[in-house]
Amino acid sequence: MAKQLKDFAKEIQDCLQCGFCLAKCPIYRELRMDPMVARGEINLAKALLEGDIEATKKMDEMLMMCQLCGQCTEACPAGVKTADIVTAARLEVAKRRGLPWIKKAIFSFLKNPSLTPLAMKMGALGQNIAFKKDGDMASERVPIIFGADRFLPKISGSSIMDKYPEVIKVDNPKKRVAYFIGCYSNYVDTELGDAVIGVMKHNGYEVVLPKDQVCCGLPLLAHGDEEGFELLRKNIRIFAKLADEVDAIIVDCATCGATLKETPESFLSDEPEIFELYEKIKDKIVSVEEFLVENGYKEDFGEVDFTVTYHLPCHRSWSDLRGAPRKIIESIPGAKLVEMAEPERCCGNAGSHMLTHYDLASQVRARKLEDIKQTEADYCMTPCPGCRMFLGEGVRQQKLDTKIVHPIKLMAQAYQAAGQKALPKAN
Ligand code: SF4
Ligand code: SF4
Repeated sequence: MAKQLKDFAKEIQDCLQCGFCLAKCPIYRELRMDPMVARGEINLAKALLEGDIEATKKMDEMLMMCQLCGQCTEACPAGVKTADIVTAARLEVAKRRGLPWIKKAIFSFLKNPSLTPLAMKMGALGQNIAFKKDGDMASERVPIIFGADRFLPKISGSSIMDKYPEVIKVDNPKKRVAYFIGCYSNYVDTELGDAVIGVMKHNGYEVVLPKDQVCCGLPLLAHGDEEGFELLRKNIRIFAKLADEVDAIIVDCATCGATLKETPESFLSDEPEIFELYEKIKDKIVSVEEFLVENGYKEDFGEVDFTVTYHLPCHRSWSDLRGAPRKIIESIPGAKLVEMAEPERCCGNAGSHMLTHYDLASQVRARKLEDIKQTEADYCMTPCPGCRMFLGEGVRQQKLDTKIVHPIKLMAQAYQAAGQKALPKAN
């Protein structure tokens, strides 16, 4: 059984109440309200655990203020993982109160992988009818549900899983990797899935794409649905079977990577069978950028002419996401990296936080957009799909020229500039 709130009693106790975390917390920086963020969230979890407060709707709302970004842990002298404590508290509240029907309905598609392709096809069809395309995003033709200034990612309608075989072979492979693709690259930004596979092939790496892999589980866990752990266990079993056959498990999504690599350590360490399997794979889980930098990539790029700034996602500690994407851009002739003022500052999206707290998330995003604007960069790269989606909407609303892309798409574009036509362009 996954760890419960009571199993985090020691971590809760470890909090020194010093408040160093407040300066890092993106929500505190906007609201200046201690009870709802950083150490305040820990105090809420403690009160819930000790029975001092009930699992009320208000309690649920206060716990949902946290973005689970983990920025507070970077500033914490005691290394307290507030995001884990808040996740455990949300699971506890959902256990006592039950989940709202709307969340149950949405999560049922992620829990049941046989339904997901159908749901995505229907979503793409509905979007084609009711929305108009704007690059890789879409806005309502008649703005009645989301509003005229809201942009959603364009759903592909096809999937990478359907497009490629389970083993994508190359002649004389240098290494063999398994690809955890995640829902976004599989169903939404499929051009990124194409770019990752294309770049790996171009560099002589054989890619295994396990067809039975499922959602990483974080969307469920972030809302207190403990069945998210079942998805995580399933992925651990699938990739552990491949552990002896592959050199690495590559991930293009910062959030999926953090979930696969870090969540089992926090929540599944009391499950010997699954934890043993996890230990077989944990050191192999790596971002696609770090894999390429560590294992080498061809520098037969064409000459490009663009400037790039970098927004680091909050889920960055599981791989070298600080260094590797920058090194790749710096190796492309004609690409110039222009750092923004605070590259590590949260963009406000935080998974589904922007759905439930849109105004607050937009307040956080406004600072990030100002940083991006100051760079006047052609592209802002970021390896998190949530950040790309939310910033992509922001640049459209503010009519900025900067495009928000994944670093691997820029790499693919540079190969394409040298005539590698099989690789897709950045949007
Ligand atoms: S996880 Fe992020 S939003 Fe939550 S308390 Fe920590 S810094 Fe604030
Ligand atoms: S979470 Fe860490 S930084 Fe924040 S009050 Fe507790 S000990 Fe201090």
